[in-house]
Amino acid sequence: MDPKFPARVPIAYLPTPIERLERLSRHLGGPELWIKRDDQTGLATGGNKTRKLEFLVADALAQGSDHLVTTGAPQSNHCRQTAAAAARFGLGCSLVLRGSKPEATTGNLLLDHLLGAHVYWNDGRDCSEAIAAVQAELRSLGRRPYLIPLGGSNVIGATGYVLAMRELMGQLEAERLNVDFIVFASSSGGTQAGITLGAHVYGYRGAALGISVDHPADALRTQVAALTTATATHLGLDSVSLADRIDVNDDYLGEGYARVGETEREAIKLVGQLEGILLDPVYTGRAMGGLIDLIRWGAFTRGQRVLFWHTGGVAALPAFADRLL
Ligand SMILES: *Cc1c(COP(=O)(O)O)cnc(C)c1O
Repeated sequence: MDPKFPARVPIAYLPTPIERLERLSRHLGGPELWIKRDDQTGLATGGNKTRKLEFLVADALAQGSDHLVTTGAPQSNHCRQTAAAAARFGLGCSLVLRGSKPEATTGNLLLDHLLGAHVYWNDGRDCSEAIAAVQAELRSLGRRPYLIPLGGSNVIGATGYVLAMRELMGQLEAERLNVDFIVFASSSGGTQAGITLGAHVYGYRGAALGISVDHPADALRTQVAALTTATATHLGLDSVSLADRIDVNDDYLGEGYARVGETEREAIKLVGQLEGILLDPVYTGRAMGGLIDLIRWGAFTRGQRVLFWHTGGVAALPAFADRLL
């Protein structure tokens, strides 16, 4: 049964390229590595949230909303892409960021401002309370706010990655490639839910491994499983349990979310210096660091092919300069 995709607005440059990482593969001496460049989706430096926003913005417009509201960390890539999408469609944008105003307005936070978003800090308050206050204020001004959850990870956002799996399967078929593993950074679960459901719908036979960026494996697996099932329903698919296809590795949480350590530093430099490709300090640096470690431990055989799904985030790099050099 084919998914019934709801309306979407075209924002991303699609399909994003897939490329072979020849020099990195040779350097590591493990499986043949490929990369899918969702850092090149094109929305104000790109990233995985762009695919989600194609469906979320379409839904906001269908509901007659005129203002996007969302939330995230100070260096949230999701918030920056939401601000850019709002600008592109003439919508207002309010961001509720975790924490208090930092000394330096840099990285994604700088871009949020340049893209015209209104930035609020929860300042120790409960985030949902802070969001409710912003929504109430907007309504009192006669605006019609549309709330996008953390990471854009609801059924509407996850749909973007179901479609992304269709895109990837088409590319693999055209190149006559078989991929044994897809590896990516996983956090709020929308990307992994979409990939998991898309893998099922479009007949991907390999494994899809999410490297957790901030949650214990059990918690993330449970969250992704629920979102996968709900997304199937949203798309009019027969209910299926794909729980046993949700692979999460939480060995690389390090000192916590957005705490850059040797894993991220080494991965970013290695991929930069061998391939000329930038990774980000919070998500893809950690996921690639995990993949490199797994390769060194012999988790893959030489004949296998692994595709690393680059989910973006490069705009955050300047904010972590002191931890990267
Ligand atoms: C948000 C984000 C992720 C994680 O995606 P989820 O759908 O939240 O799991 C991975 N990489 C980057 C760069 C991101 O911004």
